Amino acid sequence: MGANADIVVAGAGHNSLITACYLAKAGYRCLVLDARHIPGGGAATEELCLPGFGIDTCATGHTMIRVNPVLLHDELGLIADYGLSYVEPDPVEQVAFPDGEQLTMWLDSERTIEEVARFSSADAAAYRRLLDEYDEVKHIFSRNQFTPVGFGPSLEQMLGEHPRGKIWARRRQLSAVEVVRHEFTDRHVQAFLLWMAFQVFQPCDVPGSGILPYQQTFGRQQRSWSIPVGGSGRLTAALTGYLEDHGSTIVCDRRVTRLLLEDGRCVGVETDDGEQYRAGVAVVSTIHAKHLRDMAPAESWPEEFHYGIDTYDVGVPGFATYYCTTAAPEFASAHGPRTAVSAGMAGWPEDVIDMNAHLRAGRFLADPAWVLVATPTLVDPGRAPAGQHTVKILTPQVHRLPESMGDWDCVKEEHARHLLETLRRHAPNLTDEVILGHLTKSPADIEKLNPHMINGAFHGGNRGPAFSGPLRPAPGWASHRMPIPGLYQTGGSTHPGGSITGAPGRNAAIVMLTDLGHDVAQSMSGPALPAGQPSVTTAH
Ligand SMILES: Cc1cc2nc3c(=O)[nH]c(=O)nc-3n(C[C@H](O)[C@H](O)[C@H](O)COP(=O)(O)OP(=O)(O)OC[C@H]3O[C@@H](n4cnc5c(N)ncnc54)[C@H](O)[C@@H]3O)c2cc1C
Repeated sequence: MGANADIVVAGAGHNSLITACYLAKAGYRCLVLDARHIPGGGAATEELCLPGFGIDTCATGHTMIRVNPVLLHDELGLIADYGLSYVEPDPVEQVAFPDGEQLTMWLDSERTIEEVARFSSADAAAYRRLLDEYDEVKHIFSRNQFTPVGFGPSLEQMLGEHPRGKIWARRRQLSAVEVVRHEFTDRHVQAFLLWMAFQVFQPCDVPGSGILPYQQTFGRQQRSWSIPVGGSGRLTAALTGYLEDHGSTIVCDRRVTRLLLEDGRCVGVETDDGEQYRAGVAVVSTIHAKHLRDMAPAESWPEEFHYGIDTYDVGVPGFATYYCTTAAPEFASAHGPRTAVSAGMAGWPEDVIDMNAHLRAGRFLADPAWVLVATPTLVDPGRAPAGQHTVKILTPQVHRLPESMGDWDCVKEEHARHLLETLRRHAPNLTDEVILGHLTKSPADIEKLNPHMINGAFHGGNRGPAFSGPLRPAPGWASHRMPIPGLYQTGGSTHPGGSITGAPGRNAAIVMLTDLGHDVAQSMSGPALPAGQPSVTTAH
């Protein structure tokens, strides 16, 4: 039976689309299959609530992908040729604390430092130090992120060669709470930095989270909470546009249920309608590693792989409510009403520790110590009718409710209402009169939408020491090559993790192009080859 394509791609999240684009650039014909009716996974913009309101179903902020060479050097022409563009909102953040105080982060770091000085002059100096110190090592952390495991020196090696590497060796293994309490004195400033650290839903009180206050704060201070003009779906549209122009195909409404194996090699996939799609060269998956494992007989995978996947921690689930409104939330700051694309409510450090303990114990969070309020229409008005807004309220939450509460469908609207009322203490103008419509998604709804988001956890899972670098997703299989020959894995469960970074996608492309015998640097940054004519065609 002939192949349907050179490469079959199972799942069309932004990572696997990026992998497919680089393969298409090298001349391979890709066939991408996705379970949803649209591609993009967490990079989607849809009219979820009311016509004319383009809501980011999942991700809104794209700060991290902007330093990926795919955009930094525009290796695929997504910016030059496919209309992708970004806005850097200012202010960057508006964060309210339990006592009613608020802190504004501005793109101008001096202005942010002045704001921090309102709370503590020692902390203003510490904030400057945080930015300066991370600036000295950012190239190391960035190289680690955008290099596949085993394709360059380890993070430990690179830090070992840096003059201040010993400080970072300890700092990155501490918890964010320890790091923040060591550097900062005022409770508001500590709460702000822990709110920043929690952006990718990693517990802040466990070893290995110490780097997050640095990485997240530094990135935002450079490029704000960058948002794509038109919504997250614009990133997907640019990637699918590139694929279609380079001889590849995307087919939606196709849930992959089985891997096709011949002589121990993966030669394609089967979908829920019984169709089979065969690959001439390789299969690449962004199906969650736990689901992928179940798509081939158990004996196809070694015992160590089973152990690594069984013990993989899928991470912290989330709860989201989307509003269509006639006004943006106005935060009652010390300087008067203030709006921000990225805003929120931060608990005190002890509340954050408590929240993470509750999450670990699986206890429902009635009042999460971390709330994000996203209003992208403040700087990208085209996403809604004139003068109107989309507002998303996002919090961490547990997946499973205690029996006494019933299921999520009984609880979610009441809980969403409670979060809205809590927010009104800081943004009193967000009254019922300004709300035109809303939609609530519990962790169960999020998982139903996208099986890659197991338990409704959507940042790719725990990135702590047991699940990082050579141990992600399973020790021994961190370089995107799966134990079954011909099968590769990308997406948030692979190095360096989830969120909109594109790093797992580009890294998987580096590995595949290497295995296929290409000069990787030339293939990725040079001109595209005609579809169906890869310069090297060896199937290994
Ligand atoms: C409410 C919410 C808000 C978020 N906000 C942000 C944010 O502001 N910034 C940020 O960086 N991140 C954010 N995230 C997280 C971000 O969306 C994800 O981490 C990111 O999308 C992961 O990308 P991915 O390419 O690894 O996989 P995904 O985007 O999860 O894509 C996986 C794809 O595979 C498909 N799939 C899964 N199983 C199958 C199967 N069996 N067969 C066929 N197809 C399959 C899915 O349909 C999906 O299209 C948010 C997520 C949510 C839910």
